[in-house]
Amino acid sequence: MNIHEYQGKDVLRKYGVTTPRGFACASADEAADAATRLGGRAWVVKAQIHAGGRGKGGGVKLAWSVDEVRRHASQLLGMTLTTHQTGPEGRVVKRLLVEEGIEIDKEMYLALVVDRESGRVALMASSEGGMDIEEVAARTPGKIHKVLIDPATGLKGSEADIVARSIGLSGKSVMQARTLMQNLYQAFDASDASLAEINPLVVTRDGRVIALDAKFNFDSNALYRQPEIVAMRDFDEEDPAELEASRFDLSYIALDGDIGCLVNGAGLAMATMDVIKLYGGSPANFLDVGGGATAEKVTQAFKLMLRNPNLRAILVNIFGGIMKCDVIARGVIAAAREVELSVPLVVRMKGTNESLGRTILAQSGLPILTADDMADAAQQAVAAARRRNH
Ligand code: GDP
Ligand code: MN
Repeated sequence: MNIHEYQGKDVLRKYGVTTPRGFACASADEAADAATRLGGRAWVVKAQIHAGGRGKGGGVKLAWSVDEVRRHASQLLGMTLTTHQTGPEGRVVKRLLVEEGIEIDKEMYLALVVDRESGRVALMASSEGGMDIEEVAARTPGKIHKVLIDPATGLKGSEADIVARSIGLSGKSVMQARTLMQNLYQAFDASDASLAEINPLVVTRDGRVIALDAKFNFDSNALYRQPEIVAMRDFDEEDPAELEASRFDLSYIALDGDIGCLVNGAGLAMATMDVIKLYGGSPANFLDVGGGATAEKVTQAFKLMLRNPNLRAILVNIFGGIMKCDVIARGVIAAAREVELSVPLVVRMKGTNESLGRTILAQSGLPILTADDMADAAQQAVAAARRRNH
C-alpha cells in the first residue's frame, strides 16, 4: 500500500525525523491560508499524487508571495499531472502540500528497503540526490552506499556515521544525519514499511539535515496491525478495476499486455502468463478467481477484463478440481452472453467432467476456441490477439 508525501511526512515527524513544516490543502484558499500560517518569505507548493518525478513534471512550484502560492495552487488543483512514473494517462491532482521554502545547500538520497537476499532491511544512501536513483545505479554504482541492518541491534550509530560521511556530510551534520537515519529506521520498522525513500535528503544553508520528500510503501500482509496506516489509504489513487476486483474477492492486477487471463489458482495464473510470454504474447492482467469460482464470479471477472481498452483476446485456463468443468463451462457461457463478448475467447479446462464441459462449450453456439493443453491454449490466444491487431 502507498501513501501520499504529506502523510509520509506525518509518519516521519511522529518518529522524530526532521521535515519542512507544511499543511495539506484541497483548495487555493486553503493553500494561501497555509502559507500565511507558515510565515517566511518563500513557499513550495507540491502536487500530492502517488507517483514520483513531480519536480520534472511541473508538480513542484516555488512561490515568493502568498498570492503566488494561491496562483500555483489553483493551477495545480484539478490538473492532470504526467510524470515518468504516472504513465501517459497521468494523475489528477486533488490535494497539495504547502511547505515553508527551504534553502538547499546539497541534495542527497536516502532509503530503507527490504533486501530479500539477506532477509534484512538495507539502508541505501547516495551523494547524488534529487534525481532518479535508477539512473545513478546504472551510471555510477560506486556512488550508492549500502548497509544491511541487523534486526537485533537496529541501525548502529557507527554504521550511520560511516554512511553520512560517505555521502559527503561532515561536522555537526554527521550527528544530525545519524539521528535522522536511526529515527527513519524506527519509523520503517514500527510501521511495517517495505520502502521508505527520502529523495532528496538535504543539508540547508544553515547546516540542518532535513527530509525534503517522503515516499512510503507498506507490506500489505501487515496492514491488519497497522490501523493508522490503513486510514491513510487513498482510493482515488488506486486502479478502479483492482478495487472492483477486491469487492468480489478476485485477485486482479492490471498489466500492460493485450491477452486477458482468467485462471483459478495463483500458481496456475502465473504459469499461464509465463506460457503466453513464451509464445510471444503479453498478458493484460493477472486474475485468480479462486478455488470455488461461481458463475457470478466468472461473470464479474469477464466484466473486469473487458473494461481494458487494450484487450485483444481472453484465455480461460481452469483446473476443475473442487469446481467441476461442466459448471465452469456453464459459467463461462453465461458470462460471455451477459457481457456480449467482443474479443476471441480461448478456453482450456482440465479435471473433473472435462469432456462434458467441452461438449457444453461446443454446443453453446458461441465462437469459443477450445484447447487441450496450456501450450496450445496460449498459442491460440496469441494468434487471436495478433489477428485483432492488424
Ligand atoms: P519528486 O520530483 O516527485 O520526487 O518531488 P520532490 O519532493 O523530490 O521535489 C523535487 C525537487 O524540488 C527537489 O529535488 C528540490 O530540488 C525541489 N524542492 C522541493 N522542495 C524545495 C524547497 O523547499 N526549496 C527548494 N529550493 N527546492 C525544493
Ligand atoms: Mn523526490
